[in-house]
Amino acid sequence: MAYARVALIGLGLIASSISHGIRRAGLPTVVTGYARTEATREEARRLGLGEIHDTAAGAARDADLVILCVPVGAMAAVMAEIAPVLKPGATLSDVGSVKGSVIAAVGPLVPEGVHFVPGHPLAGTEHSGPSAGFAALYDNRWIILTPPAGSDPNAVAELEGFWNALGANVEVMDAEHHDLVLAVTSHVPHLIAYTMVGVADDLSRVTESEVIKYSAAGFRDFTRIAASDPTMWRDVFLNNKEATLDILGRFTEELFALQRAIRLGDGAHLHAYFTRTRAIRRGIIDAGQDTAAPDFGRGVSPVPAE
Ligand code: NAP
Repeated sequence: MAYARVALIGLGLIASSISHGIRRAGLPTVVTGYARTEATREEARRLGLGEIHDTAAGAARDADLVILCVPVGAMAAVMAEIAPVLKPGATLSDVGSVKGSVIAAVGPLVPEGVHFVPGHPLAGTEHSGPSAGFAALYDNRWIILTPPAGSDPNAVAELEGFWNALGANVEVMDAEHHDLVLAVTSHVPHLIAYTMVGVADDLSRVTESEVIKYSAAGFRDFTRIAASDPTMWRDVFLNNKEATLDILGRFTEELFALQRAIRLGDGAHLHAYFTRTRAIRRGIIDAGQDTAAPDFGRGVSPVPAE
């Protein structure tokens, strides 16, 4: 059965896409929402995202499902604000890109009788704000739910059904495992993209416009990823510190091994390495998470960023 009332706390790309998705699915659901600035609330009203309130508590009151859609570092503060009005039996979820730290910060504030089922949609773009949202964002994407031990299975199943209605597939795992997997698949790749664009920016002072002019050669994909929201990504690294540092350490070791192979002219090492990595790309395409079509950064449809 669909939730009668869903509250979205934070009204950026992710929340806006949830609202559009609810409408597209034809769910009999009233959507309420809150953003901290009047400008974002106005934008959300203009887009018809739901009943927009001037306070988080106003939006969360009487909701059957409340989803925290603010940056990871802001979750605890908004939770403290809405905790007193949460309805007994309601489900509280979130969309934060890191799960361990959100559970540690938000979990203790969840009132008795409210089901806490943290989540993370592996879907997004490098764009932010309510106008960036669209209904198809979650189509065929994974939503990872990380319910703490002892969670009510019915509440988890109901939330799973909600995401399925928005076109997504759901997987349940523990928070620590989530944070490690995401460090590998998303967090460290973003850090590498940020670094590469930073290096090119330093270099562009030497090469003038060549970095932009010839950017099709792989660099353009890095710039798309490195255009992602600075607040969101600052919070990701501050909150997934251990797993990020672990994967970054492994990455650095591999990089040194490749650097050494280049210095020694060890073509066999390079060829074997690149053959192995090419097979991973094939696996992603076979799993339906990307297409094999050449893109060169010119695709018209938004490419999932996370
Ligand atoms: P967004 O488009 O930048 O929107 C963020 C929203 O949070 C805005 O409504 C903003 O309000 C509000 N906000 C920002 N800082 C706040 C603070 N200190 N206190 C209260 N509200 C605050 O962000 P998004 O891309 O939707 O991301 C939201 C969450 O989804 C983040 O936790 C992120 O980790 C997660 N996520 C993002 C992606 C992605 O690719 N973008 C993918 C998966 C998960 P104002 O506009 O009024 O400032």
